[in-house]
Amino acid sequence: MSQKVRVRFAPSPTGPLHIGGVRTALYNYLFAKKHNGTFVLRIEDTDQNRYVEGAEQYIVDSLNWCNIPFDEGPGKESSYGPYRQSERKHLYQKYAEKLVSNGKAYYAFYTSETLDHHRKDHEAKGKTFIYNWHNREKLSNSLSLSDKETKARIEAGEDFVIRFKTPHKETLLLNDRIRGSISIDTSLLDDKVLFKSDGMPTYHLANIVDDHLMEISHVIRGEEWLPSLALHQLLYDAFGWEAPEFAHLPLIMKPTGKGKLSKRDGEKMGFPVFPLSWGESVGYREAGYFPEAVVNFLALLGWNPGDEQELFSLQELVNTFSLDRVHKSGARFDPEKTKWYNHQYLQFQNDDALAESFIPLLTKELNAETAAFNSDYVRQVVSLIKERASFVHEFWELSSYFFLAPSTFNDKAAKKHWKEKTPEILSQLIPVLEAIHEFDVSVIEITCKNWIAEQGLSFGMVMPPLRLVIVGDLKGPHLFDIMALIGKEETISRLRKALATL
Ligand code: GLU
Repeated sequence: MSQKVRVRFAPSPTGPLHIGGVRTALYNYLFAKKHNGTFVLRIEDTDQNRYVEGAEQYIVDSLNWCNIPFDEGPGKESSYGPYRQSERKHLYQKYAEKLVSNGKAYYAFYTSETLDHHRKDHEAKGKTFIYNWHNREKLSNSLSLSDKETKARIEAGEDFVIRFKTPHKETLLLNDRIRGSISIDTSLLDDKVLFKSDGMPTYHLANIVDDHLMEISHVIRGEEWLPSLALHQLLYDAFGWEAPEFAHLPLIMKPTGKGKLSKRDGEKMGFPVFPLSWGESVGYREAGYFPEAVVNFLALLGWNPGDEQELFSLQELVNTFSLDRVHKSGARFDPEKTKWYNHQYLQFQNDDALAESFIPLLTKELNAETAAFNSDYVRQVVSLIKERASFVHEFWELSSYFFLAPSTFNDKAAKKHWKEKTPEILSQLIPVLEAIHEFDVSVIEITCKNWIAEQGLSFGMVMPPLRLVIVGDLKGPHLFDIMALIGKEETISRLRKALATL
């Protein structure tokens, strides 16, 4: 790529960032890094009515949590700033006026409220009202009125907007990196408002002006913006500017595959749709996901690397990502797969770090009994149980018996494995275990196996009831590992206790 790559993520701060938005940011980030380019964050806050306090900070925090920070943006100024459109307000009007003066746009005196009756009237007839070539000469605007009258009305303070004069009967050829070429009959488009009566630009104008001024080379954004592409291309042409390349990313679909993934799907099925918590909605971070897992599954929602590889570090994603492998069709969101990713990334974590995250939970569960463990012990527990876990918050459930002797025993398992002879067999095992000097896994294993053989017993007669005694259930890692870790004294004490109760 000879041209300098500059891409932008341009969210509107109207609420928390949906994971679809995070994916858009991620693809921009990957594309920028792959081409030694710049990743810009631009806050599109021209619509004051939809502005939500805290949303911008949420966006920044989300990108940082995902480890995909922007290079330029609010707080990271460069010569292209400022990066909030509200701080660029003074810039846009002259561009809108420029289009009016060269005949590409016009003043329209009907503002949205006054057009309502036209809309309602059309609706009643089962039609949709479109403001464009077919009626603009009949409506109140600078095309139908004389220059003098237009000027007089503006000077009298009448509300007006600036509309784009969409060319009539042209075939427009659009190019999208993902969808290929698309042809559009411009007669079907409406004359979109570029500049509003409140003195603010609309999304379309501000977006094009800023992409141009910020020298954006590639616009990578969600499919929902595809219908705006024709207008955007026409605007570039009207200004005489070279348009960036466009790439419209496929939608993220519901787990059923039908319809766009929504916040409600997450609520109904119990999975996060936001990277971080927002109000009542739990985010991926708070649900116990690793950011690397989130980035990895998002990368593969809409893009495929061309082979079977599923696990990618961020650097590997940067190296392999390409827009050519982004699909056109929607990507079905699979909540089970996101857990699978977290499971994989949990296995990659080192045991010390996992123990550190587990200790606060453990302290809560054990209350006053915190003296019962030290961090090295916790680390060893974690190393034994982590392969069964997808989240740190599952650790307690999987490991409580390492910290507390079982107080109940699984009924079904007891019925099946606690036979008439069991108490006698297990009481005979006690002195055998007591005699072990070095109570480590291999010694325990050899001693027990030899003893079982010498006594002419079977494994099934000893091991399941022994597990029941130690764990309270038939679950858990290798039994000799558990025994070695809890130690000789605790193992024997559990045996005695169970023999007295079971
Ligand atoms: N502000 C738009 C949004 O909220 C940006 C669309 C674009 O990237 O052009 O998604």
